[in-house]
Amino acid sequence: MPVKALIYEGPRTMTLREVDPPYPVPGEVVVEVAYSGICGSELSGFMGQSSVRKPPLIFGHEFSGRIADTGSGTMLVKGSRVTANPLISCGHCTFCRAGEEQLCADRRLLGVARAGSNAAYVAVPEDRVVLLPSALSFEQATLAEPIAYAVHVIEMLTLESGEVLVVIGMGPIGLFVLQVALHYGTTHVYAVDTNPERLAIAQVLGAEATFNPLHDNVALVIADATDGLGAHAVVDAVGSAVTRQTAVSLVRRRGTVIFSGLHMAETSLVVNDMVRNEIITRGAFAYRDDQFCRSVDIIAQGAVGLENHWIVQAPLADGGHWYEQLITNPGRIAKVLLAP
Ligand SMILES: [Zn+2]
Ligand SMILES: [Zn+2]
Repeated sequence: MPVKALIYEGPRTMTLREVDPPYPVPGEVVVEVAYSGICGSELSGFMGQSSVRKPPLIFGHEFSGRIADTGSGTMLVKGSRVTANPLISCGHCTFCRAGEEQLCADRRLLGVARAGSNAAYVAVPEDRVVLLPSALSFEQATLAEPIAYAVHVIEMLTLESGEVLVVIGMGPIGLFVLQVALHYGTTHVYAVDTNPERLAIAQVLGAEATFNPLHDNVALVIADATDGLGAHAVVDAVGSAVTRQTAVSLVRRRGTVIFSGLHMAETSLVVNDMVRNEIITRGAFAYRDDQFCRSVDIIAQGAVGLENHWIVQAPLADGGHWYEQLITNPGRIAKVLLAP
């Protein structure tokens, strides 16, 4: 029996179609999708600007649901409430063996290298599946993937209570980095964005202060807040030329800058200043498998605020509209959960 799937058919074109349901091959399960989140990383794909997302393709790698069918040899049980780590790695390279699956050269992401979760059903390897604690709703569980990214960023930093973290970009990843940092005991988190509605959300979620570079001299206020030294760490969750430069300018000598945003492939930085100030820079991509599991636990502990209407639910059929709106006019909406 055909089932619904949202198909990316070309730049700015997403159409709900009837397709053959995925079949559970040995070692895989088919999940009946409850929600599938729209990821910021998919927006360039929707615009037709991605080198890896080619039509026709079912997007979606953040999801939750119930196991509907199991392939032979799987231990999982039909009906179980689950989410899944959508990063499928080779399992035997140097990085996979070290538990750093996000660095696997053969990693394949759901919704890129194979059909994703913007559909009534999605197939995933059994070893990627994470069972949901009963306290966790499907809505919360759908956020496990982007929150795992935030866990990866914050666990790189080992900040101590009282130290100052600046997060640039209050999109979903920035908002989750803010909340995970607070959960891990970082007391002073400053939020930077040019969208006042997103800054208002950051304020409610616990940012010590919020700054809009269109009106505020961010460097001056951060210097004031840190005896002129600068932040202990800065996370750039945007990835544009100006946000990367700002990140480096706000951090103290021997402070750490983490680049997680991928907005622009190439941007310039004043590297001589970074040399003289012994700035530590790191890239952060996705998450390890243990961090994905930890993300589920952190959400179950109530560390992530879903209120304030920054996360909305919408029918899968309206997916194309929401991809468009997140590009042109996101306003306070940072995350959209599509329901098949
Ligand atoms: Zn994502
Ligand atoms: Zn590998």
